[in-house]
Amino acid sequence: MSDIIHLLPDAVANQIAAGEVIQRPASVIKELVENAIDAGATAIQIVIKDAGRTLIQVTDNGFGMSETDARMAFERHATSKIQNADDLFVLRTMGFRGEALASIAAVAQVELRTRKHDDELGVLIEIAGTRIFKQETIQCVAGTTFFIKNLFFNVPARRRFLKSDNVEKSHILNEFYRMVLVNPAVEFSFFDGDDELYRLPAANLKMRIDNVFGSSKKRIPQQLLNIESSSGLVDIIGFIGKPEFAQKSAQQYFFVNGRYMRHPYFHKAVMLAYNQMIQANENPSYFIYFEVDPQSIDINIHPTKTEIKFENEQAIWSILSATVKEALGKFNVIPSIDFDSEGALEIPLNVHPENVKPPQTSFNPAYNPFSTSYKRPALEWEKLYDGFEKTANHSAPEIKPTDSLHFESDFGSGFEFFDSRPEQQKIAGNEESYTANFQFKNRYIITSIKSGMLIIDQQRAHFRVLYEHYLLANKLHIAHSQQLIFPESIALRHEEMLCYQQLEDALKAYGFRIEVAENSLLLVHGTPALLAASGVEALIHEMLDNVQNTGLVTAESVGEKIALLLAKASCIQVGQKLSAEEMSNLIDRLFACENNNYTPDGKKIHTTLTQEEMLARF
Ligand code: ADP
Ligand code: MG
Repeated sequence: MSDIIHLLPDAVANQIAAGEVIQRPASVIKELVENAIDAGATAIQIVIKDAGRTLIQVTDNGFGMSETDARMAFERHATSKIQNADDLFVLRTMGFRGEALASIAAVAQVELRTRKHDDELGVLIEIAGTRIFKQETIQCVAGTTFFIKNLFFNVPARRRFLKSDNVEKSHILNEFYRMVLVNPAVEFSFFDGDDELYRLPAANLKMRIDNVFGSSKKRIPQQLLNIESSSGLVDIIGFIGKPEFAQKSAQQYFFVNGRYMRHPYFHKAVMLAYNQMIQANENPSYFIYFEVDPQSIDINIHPTKTEIKFENEQAIWSILSATVKEALGKFNVIPSIDFDSEGALEIPLNVHPENVKPPQTSFNPAYNPFSTSYKRPALEWEKLYDGFEKTANHSAPEIKPTDSLHFESDFGSGFEFFDSRPEQQKIAGNEESYTANFQFKNRYIITSIKSGMLIIDQQRAHFRVLYEHYLLANKLHIAHSQQLIFPESIALRHEEMLCYQQLEDALKAYGFRIEVAENSLLLVHGTPALLAASGVEALIHEMLDNVQNTGLVTAESVGEKIALLLAKASCIQVGQKLSAEEMSNLIDRLFACENNNYTPDGKKIHTTLTQEEMLARF
């Protein structure tokens, strides 16, 4: 039998390779723009027609090509960017495979016009299906223009595989965003036929993001927080969205060394940092740029794949997580609510109840922080921080069940510190400086703030307050138990009994006193102080269900879940009438919380009706 193996002709080999590299018009744009950036362009213009099917034109003012280079550029594995295998590990260019132009020329009709800045004349090359049709010297501006016409003209199967114009256009725009967001210093313009869709001047990163995604009505910078961190392993800079601007669909971008990447694992780090700050179905935007030693990543995976492997993935995960959390943390201490502060007592927002001892009941009757003429002496202000140093030296801070940590169901004692309006103030009232709160339908508390009207959901606010209270009490080992007169017995199913062991310690720490009797029977002798005894059985079942279904493993996650369920079970309900004092107490406590925007299960606690919105209604 004669030999049957032979080499494929170039045209066929190129077409096969093209199948990998060029999948749709968006891939052509990506390759051409990357080449332009590699060529040092400072201005790039893109024109598409029919979603790139009939024409894709990319013009740059980069360094251009000589006549020989222009011919060579279409050969497979022809590149000016690497010389040998070692160069692969120190890549600073977008391209390096020398495949893109060969692939494009194999599946489209290509016209190239290019001139180097020092040359007087440029060159025109026409090539289609790998065959050169024309090569001539021309007069043209310095730089390079590629015209890619009738993509897949010779591969009908590919052409048919393309989606509707809208889908292809959105692929193109996605590629466009990825490139413009990482090259803010390069000026870009983008035309769809004769319509100019984007004109992006050279800018800094923040302005570029704003120019791409913002509008005169929707300014992006005010929605973003800066992030920055630098270590031997990785430098991270960029922006993350403030939690309140999270949306169902958000702009989420990672870049490494100037290249877009997808990274589900790092994405998780960012999302976890937003835990409890945004609703479950919302997403924060982020634009995060990593710089690492090129040797520590492998971008050589696949021409169209955007996943990138990192050598130190876990360490970078932790750095990223800490960086994002820090930015969110800083942001959270800054009050997100602009209470009318004029004449009102300022609440130090970063004060933790465990660090504060309420000032003793004695107070100076002449001290009236609400009188407009009164200037609080610095000394009084410092008093608010009483206890900081003391508790720092104490191994266990003195917190008794009746003191400020507790938010009793009747909102009774405690919290004089926060509710420090002098008595005569409360009774006589000083209408100018006293901000009245108003309860609406026994459900919302409405209060006036500088920018408008703040509407707080009372139940959700209390849920948040109690949640942080329980967590803290648990952390400080000061959870209090109330003894039940008649122990409550709870029968568990076999599988519930198995989970119970996982919960036992945590339940105890929260103030449950539970005895395990025979036959999977629990006897509850005591419950956390704020919990109504009637709800205990349902609550225990719910907790066990939770452990079973979610497989909570760490003590921390079990603890958080219990705090959540406990807080939910013991918070005030919609329909409960609140006194003026209770309302102001609740507001104060809410805004002393670490996170006052969302409930622990991600529901919005308050919203603001701004003065502008009100004006617009009249
Ligand atoms: P790669 O980018 O991987 O090197 P390409 O096939 O995309 O491979 O390009 C081949 C070569 O053509 C590049 O290495 C570069 O030297 C040259 N080239 C392509 N586009 C341009 C351009 N816009 N300006 C200058 N040179 C270019
Ligand atoms: Mg290239």
